[in-house]
Amino acid sequence: MGSLIDRVGIVTGSGRGIGKAIAEAMLHEGAKVVISDMNEELVKQTADELKQKGGQVLGLVCNVTVTESIEKMVETVVNSWGRIDILVNNAGITRDALFMRMTEEQWQAVIDTNLSSAFKVTKPVVKVMSKQREGRIINIASTSGVHGNFGQANYAAAKAGLVGFTKTIALEYASRNITCNAVAPGFIDTAMTQALSQDVVTKILDKVPLGRMGTPDDIAKAVLFFAGPGAYVTGQVLEVNGGLYT
Ligand code: NAP
Repeated sequence: MGSLIDRVGIVTGSGRGIGKAIAEAMLHEGAKVVISDMNEELVKQTADELKQKGGQVLGLVCNVTVTESIEKMVETVVNSWGRIDILVNNAGITRDALFMRMTEEQWQAVIDTNLSSAFKVTKPVVKVMSKQREGRIINIASTSGVHGNFGQANYAAAKAGLVGFTKTIALEYASRNITCNAVAPGFIDTAMTQALSQDVVTKILDKVPLGRMGTPDDIAKAVLFFAGPGAYVTGQVLEVNGGLYT
């Protein structure tokens, strides 16, 4: 308990999976945390669960592809807690298909939810951070965005875009004491990967030198490093992947 006492953090897509684990880890360090997700029931359920563990939690419904929904969330956070110290752009989806079969709809949905969302959410949040002269932005990218991956032209392009976005925001806002870094997870055990067949899982695991899938907590630990007050680091991409580099 302690490194984030009284910091205010927003984690998008934190109703479940990696986002939920990040929110929980931030709460454990003393932050006040916004559970933000599209699904109202999930937001309520997760916010209630984390409140019961003793944290200061605000559950807000927000679709990261819709500007009005984001603005409403940011306004509510500022009205409630007066500041925003940490933003984790975590919400994401996959619509996998080999490029030959990938539809324009699959391409666009993934770009909108994984990449354009970071532009839309960071815009109003960084304004608040700029006034404070302090802030931490952490984007959840992917190993696919750094190395490419079969069946993920849309997803890899979106996550690679997020890496370029991270490095540029880091440059443009360093003078305001705002850092921007990315965590690029490898193969993590969440609903996103539970949809894969056992055969595919076995093939991927064969390529992971540490020999196991990552957990949402593995990603949360890396996010905590970038979110902490003393991190003299910006514009970086940290792959958290058990050594999976292909
Ligand atoms: P997950 O279990 O599917 O959780 C993603 C969350 O994002 C869900 O709660 C989902 O809501 C929410 N979401 C989707 N679209 C949204 C939108 N438009 N607005 C707001 N929330 C939205 O996935 P995860 O594995 O935790 O993934 C979290 C992040 O890690 C993603 O950016 C993903 O690309 C990245 N990542 C994951 C892995 C992995 O192996 N799992 C690897 C590399 C990177 P619903 O429940 O309503 O769909």
